[in-house]
This record gives sequence, C-alpha cells and structure tokens, in this order.
Amino acid sequence: MLKLNSKNLTRISSEHLAAKQKLIDDLSVFEEKARKAKSLWDGKSSVAFDEIKSLLKKMCVSVEICVYCENNEATDIEHIYPKKLYPKKTFIWKNYILVCGKCNSHHKKDKFKIFKPKNSVNVEDVTLPPKTYRKPANDDALFLNQRKNDPMEFLELDLLNRTFIFIEKFPAGTREYERAKYTIELLGLNKRGALKKARESAALFFISRLEKYVNAKNSNNFQGLKDAVDDFGSVDETSNFNQEKTRILKSIKKTILENQHPTVWKEMLRQRGILLKTNRLLDDAPEVLTW
Ligand SMILES: [Zn+2]
Repeated sequence: MLKLNSKNLTRISSEHLAAKQKLIDDLSVFEEKARKAKSLWDGKSSVAFDEIKSLLKKMCVSVEICVYCENNEATDIEHIYPKKLYPKKTFIWKNYILVCGKCNSHHKKDKFKIFKPKNSVNVEDVTLPPKTYRKPANDDALFLNQRKNDPMEFLELDLLNRTFIFIEKFPAGTREYERAKYTIELLGLNKRGALKKARESAALFFISRLEKYVNAKNSNNFQGLKDAVDDFGSVDETSNFNQEKTRILKSIKKTILENQHPTVWKEMLRQRGILLKTNRLLDDAPEVLTW
C-alpha cells in the first residue's frame, strides 16, 4: 500500500458533491442521515461520477489497479470512512479511492475501528450489524488512509525471508502498531495466498527488469541492447545508437512503473541495503532511486 498523490476535482464535480452532501447534513437524526447516504449513493448520477472515477483512476499507483491489494482491476469507488458509519463523509472527495470489488465487498465492507477516547491507544470496534445505526464516538480511525497517510511508514514487506507478508514497523502497544495490524487484517493482505504469490512474482519480475535496465545502460553496441530487450521488444539498428539506447531504457522503466504491486518495487528500493543483487544493480543505476 502506498500513499496516493491527490488530484483536484473540477468545480462542477465539487459542487455536485457538495449539493448531495448537504441533503444528508440537513437531516438531524443520525439514522436518517445514514439511510439517506445509502439511497443517494445507490442512485448517484453516473455522468458526474464518471469524471470522479476517471480522476481516481489517474491517482492509482502504476496502472489502474486496486490501491489496497495492488493485484486486481480497480473498479469500485470506495469510501475510506464507511458511509454507513460516517454519512457526513459520503460525498466528500477526500474520502474516495478506487479499489477492486473483492477488497470492497469481501474484505473491508462496513467494518471499522477507532481509538476511543480520541488520541489514546484504546481500540473500539464500531462495526454494526445490518440495519442498525449508531454514530461512532469520533473519527480517530485505525485504518490507514492512503489519501493522508504513507502506509510505508507503518508497514514493511518481508522480502529478505521471502515470505512476502506485511509486518508492523512499530512495537506492540503503539497507535502505529494498532493501525498497521488492523489494516493488514481488515484487507486480508497476509491471509490471501494468491496475493503473497503475486507479490513474489512481482519481486522476480522487478529484479529481472532492473537487470535488463542495467545491461542496456552498460551496453555499447546493438547486440548488448538486443540482449537487454525481451522477446516482445525490438531494436532498430538503423537508428542512432544512443537514441535507441535511450528509447529502450525508457521502455524498460515504463514496464517497471506500470506493473502491479508497486509496493514490492518501492520496498526493494527501500530495503536495498539487505538485498545484495538489488543493491549491486542500483549501484550501476542510481537514477532508479528517483523514479
Ligand atoms: Zn483489491
């Protein structure tokens, strides 16, 4: 999981959201607000939300993949704070991210935990059974908010032992630990076997691409470039060598940055000190650290 670079909504979309939100905020009873939030959300206009969705797609790290699992196509607009518990955030742009149906409907759903009292380390589960409504005491959430927090400050991926599971970076008993632990559990990041496998495959892909990049960078003839591109790439030997080399380096960079599991890539860079091969390759291509 990575922090997202937020983009600004157009004025028309902002006004559309504000008008919808006002219909909820004008109600006085919490249950009415929650019910209104659901009905307005279910009946929302696709035209206005097409633009919102396309902006959220642009905010996805790498290609349009779920910002939670980083594995599946991102299809659903997700409320970071569930609208059932926080109807006041139903039509709030900063509460939206784009995720896959599996993460949205099978894992996160309307589950939520807060710290109560606010700023303490005491945790309260504010998840409610269906058709029951109760306003949570506050919005001091455990769940990591990728519009605001950098999950890499809270989590670390175990690459060295090749388990590809996420580990809490802070010691037990801290707020940071509770937040990381809850986020991992809620999204099933370590329990979903396919995700662990996919993270491992991604790590192997990234290291092989990095190797190709370094080989291409160090080559001084067309044969060297040919060895660096894969079966689906081609080298134009009629072109100027240096221009062709630049083109190939750019295309290898693109395949890395557009691949699924960008967190694996970021972790490889962050943990390069204990990853011997990665470190050696990065010594030859330090510019990669700024990508
Ligand atoms: Zn997902």
